[in-house]
Amino acid sequence: MIPTNIYQKHLTAIRNTLCAIFLVSSLTGPSEASYSKPRLINVRVSVAKDKDKLVLGVKGHYTIQAVNSDLTLARGRYLKKEVIIPTNSGIKLGDKEFKVYCIRIIPKKDATIFIGKNRFRGIVDIIRTEKLKLMVVNHLDIEKYLYGVLYHETPHYWPMDALKAQAIAARTFALYRIENMRDRDYDVTSDIYSQVYGGKSSERRRTTKAVRATRSKILAYNGKVLPAYYHSICAGHTENAKGVFEIDLLPLRGRSCPYCRGARGMNWKSMFSYKQMEDRLNKYGISAKGINFIAEGKRDRSGRLEEVKIRDSKGVKKIKGYKFRLALGPNMIKSANFRIRITPKGVIFRGKGWGHGVGMCQWGAFGMAKRRFNYRQILDFYYPGAKIKNYNEVIRF
Ligand SMILES: [Zn+2]
Repeated sequence: MIPTNIYQKHLTAIRNTLCAIFLVSSLTGPSEASYSKPRLINVRVSVAKDKDKLVLGVKGHYTIQAVNSDLTLARGRYLKKEVIIPTNSGIKLGDKEFKVYCIRIIPKKDATIFIGKNRFRGIVDIIRTEKLKLMVVNHLDIEKYLYGVLYHETPHYWPMDALKAQAIAARTFALYRIENMRDRDYDVTSDIYSQVYGGKSSERRRTTKAVRATRSKILAYNGKVLPAYYHSICAGHTENAKGVFEIDLLPLRGRSCPYCRGARGMNWKSMFSYKQMEDRLNKYGISAKGINFIAEGKRDRSGRLEEVKIRDSKGVKKIKGYKFRLALGPNMIKSANFRIRITPKGVIFRGKGWGHGVGMCQWGAFGMAKRRFNYRQILDFYYPGAKIKNYNEVIRF
């Protein structure tokens, strides 16, 4: 669970200051050239939560502040890696105890912050939650955030146009989250449920080049930021966002995709016992007791299961295909396009594709780039009707 309450409680003040829900500022002062300069948009990335301890270090000049008072707690030009733990009255860094619930580490110039083995750009907040755990939120410019995302989303040796298409989709998705997460404590997490982000440690020359080459470009539809979902392999047909995310938009209604054919990881197989299934469904919030049968339900036109039917001690129950997948584990049931076979050893799921299937098919983008389509054509194929715009023309905050 996200410890939003404590964070809200102790960070209310910062919402009006530097660490506001999202930070929009001008790159320059009010010079005559400033009208054409892009705004900086900060993303808040939850990079760790529910931790009993962390290791923090800073290479370069830094300041540590109390977030809710702007009081300077420490400063220096090098912070040897020290253990941070939550205490009853605040946060302890090495031998020093700060009597505050949230500290902000502000690096100067090119200083780098280390949390464990990961290096981060931008500002890092460390919050002690009500449950006496630590949570870390990294605030950084969206472009720099993308440097740390792209490597995880796309192999850095892929064709440049596939990387550029991915950079624009990822930037658009992050902005969409910023617009829609205003009352949360962060915009994105650093795991597969939003976009995988590894900080500065994950930057590579070619992925950074793709981000720079597409700077500020996003996808817009009807003048708004498109929820530019993407996934690994669609296996022949992308999914309509309506069934999965309840978003009904022309660019996200799904289309056939011949370009990911033959991709690695296309076919998958997994096995569960009824008991294992039951445990996972219950943990996910779908109650089931004494499952004794399972069957495929209706499929949509992309081939994915709209429903999975299970029978338990209370009768037959229909579960949405994408929810069933998430409940059992998105890395075990890699897509909702699968067949079910019941064997004496357990229930076997054989499927194709990887991911929810909405929006751009990453392996399809790779296939298109290999066939010499450029990034505009790739994006136009996977998000038909969407337009590439500079985000300054689209965002209204
Ligand atoms: Zn595909």
